[in-house]
Amino acid sequence: MGRQIAIDGPAGAGKSTIARSLAKKLGYIYVDTGAMYRAMALFLLRKGIRADETEKIEAACGEADITIAFDDGEQQVLLNGEHVNGLIRTEEVGNMASASSVNPKVREKMTELQRRLGQEADVVMDGRDIGTFVLPGADVKIYLTASIEERARRRALEYERKGQPADIEQIAKDIAERDYRDMHREHAPLRQAEDAVLVDTSDMTIEEVEARLLSLCGEKSGGKGDFFA
Ligand code: C5P
Repeated sequence: MGRQIAIDGPAGAGKSTIARSLAKKLGYIYVDTGAMYRAMALFLLRKGIRADETEKIEAACGEADITIAFDDGEQQVLLNGEHVNGLIRTEEVGNMASASSVNPKVREKMTELQRRLGQEADVVMDGRDIGTFVLPGADVKIYLTASIEERARRRALEYERKGQPADIEQIAKDIAERDYRDMHREHAPLRQAEDAVLVDTSDMTIEEVEARLLSLCGEKSGGKGDFFA
């Protein structure tokens, strides 16, 4: 069994940025579970399936083969063998991922894949239900959050950098809706695990968050530093 660091939190809290850099520092694999839900959402959108078409979504779970590969340490998501990393970071796919991820069949499919990855290697895994459900025995659990204004600002910046249009008010509205759905769904809702450490990044730089998480990992290893590769 590998070492496991679980990072959960709402949309735009900085999870993927921090998880990626932490994994690099520790020599672990970074597993982005949101990307898996996004790949499933892309499959549904391409099929013209709507988020309220439960039966069609469940049938689609059997047709969409989602796998992960690592290219130079970077996670690649394959949807029926096609590399889809470049197609899943849009608002449309994000909203569909949020809506379709309430489906227990979709969650079961993703959880299976995530648990397997968590057993095969030392991982930093980010998502919504990692510390509470996917890897409940994780060595370190972090709940990363930030104010909704700050999270919307960061998402807008991300889109602008990629040359995509970004309406900050609309993004804030979408984020609030997503948070609500993630926190109130029946299966594996987003919440802070009892043994997770809360880190509010609203007024922190990436470097500060990174330092805080590294120090938490250090504390966990009893100051022996054996979290480091
Ligand atoms: O983190 P990201 O925005 O890429 O995730 C897309 C959507 O996938 C989220 O809004 C959430 O609804 C869903 N998700 C989830 N459980 C996870 C990761 C993501 O339900 N572990």
